[in-house]
Amino acid sequence: MGQGKLFLVGLGPGSVEHLTHKANWALSLSEVVVGYESYVKRIDNLLEGKEVICTTMGGEVSRAEKAITLAEEGKIVSVVSSGDSGIYGMAGLVYQILQQRGWEATWGLEVEVVPGVALINAAAALLGAPLMHDFVVISLSDLLTPWSTIAKRLELAAQGDFVIVIYNPKSQQRWWQIIEARLILSRYRSGLTPVGMVSSAYREGQQTVVTDLEHMLDFEIGMLTTIIVGSSTTFIFEERIITPRGYRVR
Ligand code: SAH
Repeated sequence: MGQGKLFLVGLGPGSVEHLTHKANWALSLSEVVVGYESYVKRIDNLLEGKEVICTTMGGEVSRAEKAITLAEEGKIVSVVSSGDSGIYGMAGLVYQILQQRGWEATWGLEVEVVPGVALINAAAALLGAPLMHDFVVISLSDLLTPWSTIAKRLELAAQGDFVIVIYNPKSQQRWWQIIEARLILSRYRSGLTPVGMVSSAYREGQQTVVTDLEHMLDFEIGMLTTIIVGSSTTFIFEERIITPRGYRVR
């Protein structure tokens, strides 16, 4: 086995100013960069002289296998994800395949996750301070998770009065899940509960909406939208969404 290195790099939400120094360093060191086409395009100025392997959406397993094989052959390889690689990104899949291949941490190929600014961070920053107290993140994508599991998690998170971050609210094929999710949450929360929605955070076409549970579906929601539903203490102030931490302010 060679002395290859595999970086699992989070690129952040979009703009280069949110790419960490460490991510930049890992990319500059890499001979091969592997990732979904639209992510790789956004960093193409950092890729000069490197072998770039682009795949389309849905090619995650073959992308991860290819990257591991190249690193096993001794190459320095970065597998890039948007946001953070360890949050609905490529890191888990890569580790699953490594486990299947009998990889051991103490020899040969080195593996390192390079954290990135996740979309929860980006969306929260653009909305104000909605994640100041306990929150959960739930993806509405039922491609890899049964809807019954997702619905149960929404139900319990709503009962627990958590702030709820919703990832993957909608795609062209998946349109009813967000309608159903809103219905579940409405059983436990008032229609006046603050809801923030950020689309294309730190990218061209960025949009921020501050609304409430009653009206959230009146706005455009897409593949690049992150939704934050407040808890019972969350409030709106100057078009921003704030969840108090509990400090007393005089
Ligand atoms: N690895 C990413 C999550 C990818 S899951 C992370 O660390 O955050 C894909 C979901 O992330 C999308 O469906 C959407 O809900 C959210 N997302 C991705 N890019 C976004 C963007 N630029 N603005 C707002 N939300 C985004």
